[in-house]
Amino acid sequence: MSSQAIQEDLTETDLVHYVAYNQRHLAGIVIGYEENRVDLVIFTNMHNVNGVKNFGHQFQQEVPYSVVPLAGTWHWPEKRRDETRDT
Ligand SMILES: [Zn+2]
Repeated sequence: MSSQAIQEDLTETDLVHYVAYNQRHLAGIVIGYEENRVDLVIFTNMHNVNGVKNFGHQFQQEVPYSVVPLAGTWHWPEKRRDETRDT
């Protein structure tokens, strides 16, 4: 996907993946963008040392796009249902 195409497809409220530093793909919502960099609210549900889930969210700004899932980048979810998105 070209850089131009990514930008044209972006809008606030899009659901994307943010790659955490432990390589997990976390759910994020686009709350702003410029070029292909997005500002995200990212939702977390990490297990603590007792195995209990800790829920939270974090903000990341100007996150760069990468089709390769590098830590600290965003991409479209692999299971995105394109066929139902515009209906
Ligand atoms: Zn992903």
